[in-house]
Amino acid sequence: MPIEKFGNGGVVCLRGGRIVTFDDSDRIVENGELWICDKKIISVGPRGEYEPPKGPVEYVDVTGQLIIPGMINAHTHSYSSLLKGTVEKDPLDIYMLSVIASGSAMTAREIYIAAQLDALSMLRTGTTALIDHYSERPALSAEGLEAVRAAFTEIGIRATIATMFADRPYIETIPIERDTLPPEIVAEYNARTIPDVKAYFAVMESTLKSISTDERVRIILGVDGPQRCSDLLLEMTGDFQKRHHCGLHTHMLETKTQASMRPSEGPGFVRRLFDLGGLDEKSSLVHFIWADEDDIQAAKEAGVTVIHCPASNTMLGAGLSPILRLRENGIPIAYGTDGSNCGPPSLFETMRMGAYLMRLTEPDFELWPDARVILKEAYRAGAKAIGKPDEIGFLASGACADFTVMRPFNHWHLPMGDVYRHLLYYENGESVQDVWVEGRRIISEGRITTVDEEALLAEAQEIVARRRRSIPAKALSAVEAQYPFFRAMILRTLDSDIGIERRISLD
Ligand SMILES: [Zn+2]
Repeated sequence: MPIEKFGNGGVVCLRGGRIVTFDDSDRIVENGELWICDKKIISVGPRGEYEPPKGPVEYVDVTGQLIIPGMINAHTHSYSSLLKGTVEKDPLDIYMLSVIASGSAMTAREIYIAAQLDALSMLRTGTTALIDHYSERPALSAEGLEAVRAAFTEIGIRATIATMFADRPYIETIPIERDTLPPEIVAEYNARTIPDVKAYFAVMESTLKSISTDERVRIILGVDGPQRCSDLLLEMTGDFQKRHHCGLHTHMLETKTQASMRPSEGPGFVRRLFDLGGLDEKSSLVHFIWADEDDIQAAKEAGVTVIHCPASNTMLGAGLSPILRLRENGIPIAYGTDGSNCGPPSLFETMRMGAYLMRLTEPDFELWPDARVILKEAYRAGAKAIGKPDEIGFLASGACADFTVMRPFNHWHLPMGDVYRHLLYYENGESVQDVWVEGRRIISEGRITTVDEEALLAEAQEIVARRRRSIPAKALSAVEAQYPFFRAMILRTLDSDIGIERRISLD
């Protein structure tokens, strides 16, 4: 029977698998059946227990295989799928210089291909839902937004697009004095146009009007870290949130250089954004490494989710997020891979690193959450951040039919011990066989069913080659000219005392 026949709106039964539900009672069903109808799960239980409604049923034999809820990647940047292998050991502020230099405007087609490529890597490693912190240069456009939305809609992944935007010149958002830079660099910064705040909200208003909140691909605010925003932008963000209540997804306190830009008086970045109405329980703060006690309390009061990105946090040397302290405060922790220029967008690998790192900050090992807890909390928090709490991240009647079927039958997994420990400590996405989103089989026996994978990869390679050739030599030499000043700024800031520490000293 052709695979495409499955999951086109009828009743489907996956039969014979081991179903790890992550439901309220953490049921694991051996030799189970998972029934779906249209976009929803209608039953999960032992084989033969469920009496299906009259009518045709399509059966899928998953004997001996493992079914888990689809993973939720709560922070990515789709454009970065075209920048794999371009980052070595650059802290964020230096990396940003390169991104700005090479970040000439992408065409709608390039945006589309980048988004599908990122989604492809995620689907093939068991991720069914993502938040794309969608960055467009020089500024958000209706055409670009439509391209990224079409890309996710057509490839079949569940996606929330958070439209990234900031309006302060980068040089003003870091602890460096303009006057200390070479005059030609300063002149270049001064010549840059400031993105139009009102145009951003106009695009958001018209886009939100045109889509329903039930759609698989959604749009929310992605106004970037407060230190990168003018007062007007922050105020308009609060106002927009009060009217639309769509949620805000933003980078927050990723580096010590950002934390050192905190105003010396008055509320910190998180509380200020909360006071203005910008944060609510639908919102999420990404990284949240250099958060002090009041930042943590403000995040708790706002009801936000924190998105932990342990791979990029360590690759860029940003620091350790105080994850266990956030958990103690009841703040939900979801996981994100961050841009694909900071390593592969495999959520299994990201979560494993997160589990390891939190153990370095707390000596009492009884306080370390175990594999089942970390996975379950990530599913719950990811579903909340993506705007689908109580609908995705678990397998039970009424949930969305978003799940991953795995064949953990290779040398990594046999003989198999505790299933949660295998998922967190051994899996990297290689065992993924089938991925279903909204009742549709998007990955089937390791192949994507919705796009031509070879053509997608070929076009992505062409785009990257073309864009590399088009980077102006002037932009690259500007990065080189700024490098020593930025390096000095980073080292000076890391050496300063701001009252909290988030890096390890082996003294
Ligand atoms: Zn990011």
